[in-house]
Amino acid sequence: MTKHNHCPICGQPAKADHAPFCSRGCKDRDLLNWLSDGYRLPGASIDPDDAEAAQSGLDTGQTRD
Ligand SMILES: [Zn+2]
Repeated sequence: MTKHNHCPICGQPAKADHAPFCSRGCKDRDLLNWLSDGYRLPGASIDPDDAEAAQSGLDTGQTRD
């Protein structure tokens, strides 16, 4: 087990209470970074053209029936 973990946010020695971070502040900041990345990725991968194609595909299928 490694006891010399360092906070990935600020580089200070991590505290067991907030591992792998040094404080709750850095833990929250990492969470925010993670969330903002998570929100950004799906938004960028959703292409308006794909949504339109899916809708028109459904419409075409229903019209043919
Ligand atoms: Zn820190």
